Amino acid sequence: MTTTRFAPSPTGYIHVGNLRTALMNFLIARKAGGTFILRIDDTDPERSKEEYVDAIKQDLDWLGLHWDRVERQSQRLERYHDAAERLRGMGRFYEAFETPTELDLKRKKQLNMGRPPVYDRAALDLGEAERDALRAERGNGVWRFKLERERIEWTDGILGEISIDAASVSDPVLIRGDGQILYTLASVVDDTEMGITDVVRGSDHVTNTATQIQIMRALGAEPPRFAHHSLLTGPQGEALSKRLGVLALRDLREQGVQPMALLSLMARLGSSDPVELRHDMAELIEGFDISRFSSAPTRFDVKDLFPLTGRYLHGLDLNTVRAEVAAAGVPDDLAAPFWAMARDNITTLHDLAGWWALCRDGAEPLVADEDREFVAQAMTLLPPPPYGPDSWADWTAAVKDATGRKGKALFMPLRKALTGQERGPEMATLMPLLQVVRARD
Ligand code: GLU
Repeated sequence: MTTTRFAPSPTGYIHVGNLRTALMNFLIARKAGGTFILRIDDTDPERSKEEYVDAIKQDLDWLGLHWDRVERQSQRLERYHDAAERLRGMGRFYEAFETPTELDLKRKKQLNMGRPPVYDRAALDLGEAERDALRAERGNGVWRFKLERERIEWTDGILGEISIDAASVSDPVLIRGDGQILYTLASVVDDTEMGITDVVRGSDHVTNTATQIQIMRALGAEPPRFAHHSLLTGPQGEALSKRLGVLALRDLREQGVQPMALLSLMARLGSSDPVELRHDMAELIEGFDISRFSSAPTRFDVKDLFPLTGRYLHGLDLNTVRAEVAAAGVPDDLAAPFWAMARDNITTLHDLAGWWALCRDGAEPLVADEDREFVAQAMTLLPPPPYGPDSWADWTAAVKDATGRKGKALFMPLRKALTGQERGPEMATLMPLLQVVRARD
């Protein structure tokens, strides 16, 4: 049974970077008819905030990435302490007392000597009495997992064959001096006990994965399948990490981006499949294949979300957007013709308000000097609103007869006079909605 998890730390909002992680794990579970767990990694009581837990759930809900159950690491601390006890019993766990400054100094020395900055395991040489003395002086030490110095290998779902020399990695700290359980231990215990079969996460976790594989095996479990997706960059290949704050899902939602547009882009970006607008989750699930993703950094341009949003909206029927049409101020009886007129002419639903304002108040006419007389004459032939489906054809025919103009020279100045714009909806569908024509008055 396929089981995946999305495991955010509730220390901030979901942004496009971690959305990719969430989406891939979700799609794998749904495609296999398996289980998708939302795991809140909240073992850090200082940085974890309940408001972020709520926000993460809201954002996933908005996208339709529904989870089968929620797990919270803060409620599983005992399990992690049990695992720590077992590691201690096996001699794979040791207490170390170096201060951050001391560790930093060691690293610098190693680098100066051209050696990899790997923790030297000095703490393993301490005798009981020395440890007691250090504890009395500095408080409890951190607990490190003693790696087996061998190659750690796995077949990564995206990166392919991976082989990491454990000797090039420091023994990971799993418990802090103040007793706080760190992510690596908690994650290993959870992935094992929750029967996680597939873990997809960012390639910044590759070294973690190597150490987690060893910890899992030490605890008698078989590691899940791993896949590490590339990290997103900006449109020019620049690091996105600093800008992720402004690419939070809630900001995109505010800007009018539609969930299916965002999902369609993120489920294919960086893969060998083309980005195409998908209309529902079933379509996304159907075409998803993790092995088609590339390990190369993936360029992301927020601008790409808007044409996709527009295209998604063009295909919607009124029932899906009734609330938004009403919120734009459109009266109920005009909602259907208004949506039929506006839907091909909006990028986001925010644009509805502008089209409605135009219908309700009329537009500031846009009239070129050379058209002034022509437009004035045309306006004398235009009766006051209300208009019907034939009004545009009737009026333009009358103007044509009176002035002799035809084609673009006839239609464009009239469109600009009525809408104040050069482009826009079919005039025949717009006219019945016009309550006011300012160019007439
Ligand atoms: N809480 C971790 C993170 O957000 C989870 C990583 C993982 O998927 O294991 O980076």
